[in-house]
Amino acid sequence: MSESILVIGGGFSGLTAAVEAAEMGYEVFIVEKEAYLGGRVAQLNKYFPKLCPPTCGLEINFKRIQTNPKITYYTLADVESISGNPGNFSVSIRVNPRGTTPQCTNCKAGEAAATSEVPNEFNFGMDTRKAIYMPHPMAFPNQCVLDLANTSPDEIEAIKAAMPAGHIDQEQQAETITLNVGAIVVATGWKPYDAEKIDNLKIGQFDNVVTNMMVERMASPSGPTGGKVVRPSDKEEPKTVGFVQCAGSRDVNHLAFCSQICCMATLKQVTYLREQNPDIEAYIFYIDMRAPGARYEKFYEKIKQDDKVHFIKGKVADIIPGDAPGSVKLVAEDTLGGGRIEQEVELAVLATGMQPVGAESPIPGIEYDADGFVVPKEGIIPCGCSKRPADVVSSAQSATAAALKAVQTLVRRAG
Ligand code: SF4
Repeated sequence: MSESILVIGGGFSGLTAAVEAAEMGYEVFIVEKEAYLGGRVAQLNKYFPKLCPPTCGLEINFKRIQTNPKITYYTLADVESISGNPGNFSVSIRVNPRGTTPQCTNCKAGEAAATSEVPNEFNFGMDTRKAIYMPHPMAFPNQCVLDLANTSPDEIEAIKAAMPAGHIDQEQQAETITLNVGAIVVATGWKPYDAEKIDNLKIGQFDNVVTNMMVERMASPSGPTGGKVVRPSDKEEPKTVGFVQCAGSRDVNHLAFCSQICCMATLKQVTYLREQNPDIEAYIFYIDMRAPGARYEKFYEKIKQDDKVHFIKGKVADIIPGDAPGSVKLVAEDTLGGGRIEQEVELAVLATGMQPVGAESPIPGIEYDADGFVVPKEGIIPCGCSKRPADVVSSAQSATAAALKAVQTLVRRAG
């Protein structure tokens, strides 16, 4: 029997579950597929309930991890298989090379020497990154990544020569490790639903149709536009912005469920626009606005008082070219006002939903439902958005509960 706990996923839920379990005295391993901990929350400009930047919650958790000897974490790591039973699981993990050593602490010398650039995944391709890079300014661990797969040997040598000795190790190989754990918390989280699959909303066909997560990155001071929401076509501030709710959610052809967070995300993004320029007009096309709980309802009520925010009850059926250069028209049936509406806007934002990571990248040994959410079993406990769509606060609550259930598994099996 093992008295250790594995947490798969190092986002907000995974970090919460890990620190809670470790602070109860249990050994915890975190396995994260990205090069950094923090997950989706790290990409947000602000998050509910206090509309604070992601540093707020994440830095506290990073400190708790750094100072707790019971926690070991692996980044750039994937779970390959799980076998065994509650109390005694064997988990095979592939740890991919980072190309740098722990002495590397983001001195920027390598980045300056790197010449090639590729689309920056963290900013959804709205800018580029170098061959050696920090995924984002507050990335934890604070250690660069060398993109071994996309960098020529000559460029690697140039980067290496510019950096202090011992910081680059291009000979690193992927390694497989096996962990023996008694319980597994699954916190693999979500990814934005691929808007290119929603044919009628035409992202990719129009420059000025973007997703809500792209807006989060634009609005972030560390984002590709330095904190300003702009039109991709000309980098100008839009005077009118249209939000398309339920983009891919509540649709049997895409995500059959309500993604829970995208109504509040849009209301939040209206506040970004307001802070940027009080004259921007927003048009929100919705089926139902969902603002669960008193706090969110109050927020919704406040936005409704804004006479520059227009709510139109109607599902956007099409996006067509606008009359002004770069603008588009959102086409919908206005179910309250009556009749077809074609609203021209300078920027359209698709409020895309949450797809659980398990839908496209299932882990062998874990059971999923038809939508890709993890089915709980004794010893395998999902939390956060691997369990159901949830906001950050609810995710943290379910992560704390998952840590407790994992400990109960160990205690029951030991008894
Ligand atoms: Fe649609 Fe709002 Fe539910 Fe998102 S939260 S799926 S936008 S109803």
